[in-house]
Amino acid sequence: RIDTANPQRSALIDLGAISGNVETLRGIAGTAKLMAVLKADGYGHGLVPAARAALRGGADYLGTAVLEEAFALRAAGVDAPIFTWLNAPGSNYLRAIEEDIDLAAYDCAQLEEICHAARQAGRPARVHLKIDTGMWRGGASAEDWPRLCGAARRALDAGLIEATGIWSHLAAADEPENPSTSMQLAAFRAALAVARDLGITPRLRHIANSAATLSNPEAHFDLVRPGISVYGINPLPPEYRTSRMDLRPAMTLRAAVAHVKAAPAGAAVSYGGTERAAAATQLAIIPLGYADGVMRSASSKGPVQIGAGRYRVIGRVCMDQFMVQVGSDAVVPGQQALLFGPGTDGEPHLDQWAQAADTIPYEILTRIGTRVPRIYL
Ligand code: PLP
Repeated sequence: RIDTANPQRSALIDLGAISGNVETLRGIAGTAKLMAVLKADGYGHGLVPAARAALRGGADYLGTAVLEEAFALRAAGVDAPIFTWLNAPGSNYLRAIEEDIDLAAYDCAQLEEICHAARQAGRPARVHLKIDTGMWRGGASAEDWPRLCGAARRALDAGLIEATGIWSHLAAADEPENPSTSMQLAAFRAALAVARDLGITPRLRHIANSAATLSNPEAHFDLVRPGISVYGINPLPPEYRTSRMDLRPAMTLRAAVAHVKAAPAGAAVSYGGTERAAAATQLAIIPLGYADGVMRSASSKGPVQIGAGRYRVIGRVCMDQFMVQVGSDAVVPGQQALLFGPGTDGEPHLDQWAQAADTIPYEILTRIGTRVPRIYL
């Protein structure tokens, strides 16, 4: 068991930051409602605590990828509206309907399966029809859309569904100059017009992720679905960030320095000896590795703050640990090494780790391992 009272490694989670970020996003979204996206254990922050913090910040809806996540929220007593969008045939739609969980329908077969569950439940399912506007990640294509709408119309007439939403997802909203976003928005509007002509007028039309919520009011429609920004990370390129987007990173990843030892100039550090100490140095051994989500691709690059000093990983990241070259600085075992956080103690930003690891902040946050206790502030 992990000793959470005295953790050697920890992810501090600032729940107030999550609430504050939701408030900020609500301000930016104007009249649109806000669905806080909580998939993948609340982007690594903890599903239930993150959900409660988002609701305190004014979230109207919660979003999860899979039903298991939605059921876990209900089991914890979260009674806010929940939408879940990635369910394979054989999913427990009956339980979803009984637990008042909104479901996505991508095609007629899925809609029929949901209707079957609604008949068993004896009450209508809350359905959000998915139109694929160009990302090719599921949903009805333009030619299949009228058929899906027709099936939805019949299910509505039979009292098996409530047409709660029509939705899609943007492929490149984090590249504000990318013309694909306006093409997707046009396709979305066209699909809404087709649905309207077939008598389907959903309460919630939604397509905006964080990047579109922050930068593209045209994409807000009735509801925005931010994820990463709820956790304080702005997915827009730095030149598009403004002071209105006042987001605070909610997670600080840190570990106590396990050992400090002297190494001579030329010491080949870590597996494969891929990097040598340029001069005689102290090496601080940090007990976090790729099993904890410190990506091996950040070998020789990831930045670390210890006390007032900024260092970087030397050599390869191992499964449980990595080394940092601290020269002759007075770094001692037990001192906290900060990998990333809000920056209040001089620590790096997650963006810097993402760059060092040649990935995106999403991947780092969602891969922080179970050996790292989440400590809620
Ligand atoms: N909506 C859907 C369907 C998603 O899959 C995601 C996450 O990728 C989001 C919203 C939130 O996206 P982001 O974290 O970029 O805000």
